[in-house]
Amino acid sequence: MTISALLVANRGEIAVRIIRAAKALGIRTVQVHSAADRDMLAVKMADAAIEIGPPSAAKSYLNIEAVLKAALESGVDAVHPGYGFLSENAAFAKAVTDAGLIFIGPSHEAISLLGDKVEARKVAMQAGVPTVPGSNGRVDDLDAGRAVVEEIGFPVMIKAAAGGGGRGIRIAETLADFERHFPQASAEALAAFGDGGLYIEKVITRARHVEVQILGDGVDAIHCFERECSLQRRRQKVWEEGPSVSLPADVRRALCDSAVALARSVGYRGAGTVEYLYDEQSGEFYFIEVNTRIQVEHPVTEMITGIDLVQEMIRIAGGARLSLRQEDVRLNGHAIECRINAEDPAKGFLPGPGTISTLNIPEGEGIRFDTMLYEGYQVPPFYDSLLGKLIVWGENRDACLARLAGALEHFEIGGLATTVPLHRKLAADASVKRADFHTRFLEPWLETAFPAASPVASVAPVLAKEKH
Ligand code: ADP
Ligand code: ADP
Ligand code: MG
Repeated sequence: MTISALLVANRGEIAVRIIRAAKALGIRTVQVHSAADRDMLAVKMADAAIEIGPPSAAKSYLNIEAVLKAALESGVDAVHPGYGFLSENAAFAKAVTDAGLIFIGPSHEAISLLGDKVEARKVAMQAGVPTVPGSNGRVDDLDAGRAVVEEIGFPVMIKAAAGGGGRGIRIAETLADFERHFPQASAEALAAFGDGGLYIEKVITRARHVEVQILGDGVDAIHCFERECSLQRRRQKVWEEGPSVSLPADVRRALCDSAVALARSVGYRGAGTVEYLYDEQSGEFYFIEVNTRIQVEHPVTEMITGIDLVQEMIRIAGGARLSLRQEDVRLNGHAIECRINAEDPAKGFLPGPGTISTLNIPEGEGIRFDTMLYEGYQVPPFYDSLLGKLIVWGENRDACLARLAGALEHFEIGGLATTVPLHRKLAADASVKRADFHTRFLEPWLETAFPAASPVASVAPVLAKEKH
């Protein structure tokens, strides 16, 4: 193991998660933080902490120079980027490596290649992985776009090559829609991601979002089975589970093998996720993108395979080979993760910060709560609204759901509105109990479940999520 100290270049629950993994491996931790995060749990847990800038993420967690300076000054030999922020920024990964430090993730070349969603589609096709019918490469102008949509048919999605976090996607039902959206999408993508490049995909209706967890050491790659994340709001995941109950055994095998083929084709190193849409009617699955980092919902996989993915990615970055062979990875039971956000489902998911007055966390066998919270903690208004993740395991899906319902019943976070009430309703819903859902299930469901909700026209500036 060549890593003896690492810098945590993130905040919130994932910073806490990384510190726990590092401690288990005997690695010293240095936590960076903004001026608004002096009291965060990860700062208290780390061996040392360094303030790197003002509350604005652009000037702190996204400031490559400031993060790198902290890494060099603190004498760590590696940097863990977590998710969001700089985790998929190839320039950051390169800067870390150029400075003689270890970036805990794939090579910067792999990040650039797979982080460009158009290039990633090409990689998938070359590896023999089915992709969603759509454009061949980027679509540079409206005329080229018209030719594509006439061939594949409506509805279509106009997607930003550099998009992420559910942003940079528009649906066009008709040619008129398409002609209106296309120029706007390009301008928006340029403003949001610094890259106006667009591509087109056919809309797969009533699809399930199924994704495969992969691990690679640059020589070999394996999968750790799949997670299903079909319950989404604004294309952001709300509830994730594994394994997906919708997959017949042969489809599961083909899906997981295709993710490994893709990972092997690029000599992938580290933890990653290959995302797909699965059409239950036809039994077909289609690649959509690769996330070259640890994902929010990684604990689902940890609960059903017993693998510590964060420890494994740190070990690999330190030069170790994979500690598991494919045949060592076994599925055991079922796990569900509920994202607990500082958002009020009864008020159109209005985000709101606050001080944690009481905290009653459910405990017991098969129950895990990954969080940044403690009593008295003041949730700052500047960042993503994720407060924590409740992950529950059961020996099968029904047992898992029953345990989840019990855990949610006794779960109390006082001082601010959270999405706990939403998860209570989901866990009790008949369709959810049957796993009878798809990616467009949740939004109309919410209109019935929370009828008084006044829709928030746009994300309130206070909790606007910053990325990249
Ligand atoms: P992001 O990079 O923002 O995560 P993705 O390409 O992974 O974007 O898509 C996010 C979500 O948008 C998917 O989980 C799915 O719900 C929806 N989506 C994306 N592409 C399609 C498609 N071609 N057809 C239907 N839904 C799609
Ligand atoms: P994951 O499956 O890990 O959630 P996403 O691509 O959906 O993958 O999001 C990754 C991370 O990006 C999130 O956990 C969060 O830190 C950040 N993020 C999510 N949604 C947004 C958003 N709307 N705007 C900016 N960043 C976001
Ligand atoms: Mg995605």
